[in-house]
Amino acid sequence: MKNAFLSQLLLSALLLVLCACAKSGQNSGLLFFDGKWGHLESLNQTNPSSIFLIHQNKDENYDICLPEYMISKYPGIKTELEASINLWAHYLGRKISVEFNVQPLPENTDKGLTSIQQIEQYYAVCGVNTDLVIGEAFTDGTTLGFTQQTYSYYVNSLNGKHDVASFKRGLFLRKSKEEDAKKYKWISFEKKSGKSYTSDELLKLMIERGTISFKQDDDTYTTLPIILHEIGHVWGLCDQYVIGEGGTNCDAKNATINEEGHVVLDFNAQMSSAGWKEKIYLAEDDITGIRKLGERFHNSHWPTKEEFQKIEIAPLKSKDIELFKINNAHYDTQENKFIVDLAMDTNAPIEFTIKIKLKNNERVISYYPVKINQPVSYGHYYMNLPLAKSEVEKVYVSYKKMDSEESIEVDFIPENEKEDVSTTDETVCENEVCSS
Ligand SMILES: [Zn+2]
Repeated sequence: MKNAFLSQLLLSALLLVLCACAKSGQNSGLLFFDGKWGHLESLNQTNPSSIFLIHQNKDENYDICLPEYMISKYPGIKTELEASINLWAHYLGRKISVEFNVQPLPENTDKGLTSIQQIEQYYAVCGVNTDLVIGEAFTDGTTLGFTQQTYSYYVNSLNGKHDVASFKRGLFLRKSKEEDAKKYKWISFEKKSGKSYTSDELLKLMIERGTISFKQDDDTYTTLPIILHEIGHVWGLCDQYVIGEGGTNCDAKNATINEEGHVVLDFNAQMSSAGWKEKIYLAEDDITGIRKLGERFHNSHWPTKEEFQKIEIAPLKSKDIELFKINNAHYDTQENKFIVDLAMDTNAPIEFTIKIKLKNNERVISYYPVKINQPVSYGHYYMNLPLAKSEVEKVYVSYKKMDSEESIEVDFIPENEKEDVSTTDETVCENEVCSS
């Protein structure tokens, strides 16, 4: 309890909306490497409290209230939450004990209900001692997931900051509205990988930093990287992408600053926007950020900076060719072209050759090899071929690391009828090899 004179000073409720979102990002482009980190501006407003995980005490459980619908829709979600919290904790030498309270909470079907109202609704069932409620909620823009919070506070007379008396916090995955420009669908990591993990196994997998996943299709996101990102906010980290017109939620005093005094962001971090390539680990920048947070708010019960700096960061295990596949192959009636839609993610120069088997014909057309000299990550890479739809029986693409002897072949049987194809925004060509 707070003493009486303080409570007379001020007790007020503040609605703090952390723009702590996971945003959808580019679907293609050149890989970008840089290394920056940052802490949330909103950390400065409060004195230490368990509103942020960095202040969690060693002997306390972290209480998560989870709706039954999240468990049935997303098998393994508990494991993902517990392992995500403890992946961030790992780099500080901490272990957070997570307790789940599973409740028959309602799915939100009312678009007029704000996520803050949804948090209130869930807390009424979950109880005031809950640290975090989970769910699905409607939102706007390119937001994929977000955390939001409300808290009541007293103003501390010594430093003017807020002493948090109570708080409510929610972590939500985006629920699709009919009017949304695109659909938002989710698949749990367990379902996507076809393997179930204990939270210790999943934690180990992420510590090893050797797993990446690719979006199953343009609309479907994997829950785990978004949860990992949102939990990063719960710890106290800011977004590593630009918010609005050149904005940021990073605290300029606790971030990487360039010569002009601007916050520098790292688009390769888990705390950056989500793309088609899903990192099942923390980037070096994320680890630097959480360790800076651990140094900044040191609690004597947890390992010291000297101790946690010794915890090894596994080198990223990457393959020369992480992914190469044919997304689709079809005839574009407007352009009168046959389009082969490829996906590729590489760390080495590669080359690939498209071969077309024509119907009622033994002949196989082989095109010139396409050479890509640098690491690339394309969710869609379109090759346009001057062929009629009716001609094509099967498409083969053989690919290999440049100068390697061994190549791998993938094939695809074209769809029969496909009328409208959008290629303008996402067409990615290397010089003129795309158009033949
Ligand atoms: Zn975010």
